[in-house]
Amino acid sequence: MKKIIIAIDGHSSCGKSTMAKQLAKDIGYVYVDTGAMYRAVTLYAMRNGMYPDAGIQEEELKAAVEAGKIQISFKFNAETGRPDTYLNGEKVEDEIRQMEVSNRVSPVAALPFVRALLTQQQQEMGKEKGIVMDGRDIGTAVFPQAEMKVFVTASARVRAQRRFDELMGKAKTQEELAALNYEEVLKNVEERDYIDSHREVAPLRQAEDALVLDNSDMTREEQSAWLLAKYQEIVAKC
Ligand code: C5P
Repeated sequence: MKKIIIAIDGHSSCGKSTMAKQLAKDIGYVYVDTGAMYRAVTLYAMRNGMYPDAGIQEEELKAAVEAGKIQISFKFNAETGRPDTYLNGEKVEDEIRQMEVSNRVSPVAALPFVRALLTQQQQEMGKEKGIVMDGRDIGTAVFPQAEMKVFVTASARVRAQRRFDELMGKAKTQEELAALNYEEVLKNVEERDYIDSHREVAPLRQAEDALVLDNSDMTREEQSAWLLAKYQEIVAKC
């Protein structure tokens, strides 16, 4: 069967990764979480003093990007059944999901030199097709020629609740649990929506030829069945 490119874009915390991962598994495709790549660059900037509270030190980050000091890769984790993100050889999968990174990632993702680097790496990963990639600009900027494009959304409150539940599930200590605050998660979701949709380079927007999926009232199983049916329809016509 012909291999295609599947681009899944949409707002923060709308469950894109979960459904994209499941679809890739169902059809034997490679899955790439591009949000993890932007998060890894953000973590690099934070760890190296390039993102203090005052804001990003753009020139220093640019120099690090240009010198090839930020290497991001993925390795499949057989235990969890999903790929883990590595930054310069170190597994950072848990760290990049923390609120500190979520709160800083959108301004980093708005920097043109960061987008240029990651877009080029993502295009390379999809060269052979047979890939499901999720993000904000996959169907519009990374693979405008993708055979299947999906734009996922849900209300901000529904998305914040899902993210909050996920963070609760991941909290390892009582302190981590006590530090979680739904209103803060909601604020983060709304701020990221705003920055992602208003940046100059590759803003989040629905591609004209994307299928729209509002999953506010759908279960995971319903979403997976919907995606699989659309994939089968599209691939049959290719
Ligand atoms: O998907 P996730 O929420 O992990 O993405 C983190 C952030 O990375 C987003 O809020 C967005 O600012 C940025 N991003 C992006 N383009 C992508 C994927 C993510 O700008 N393709």
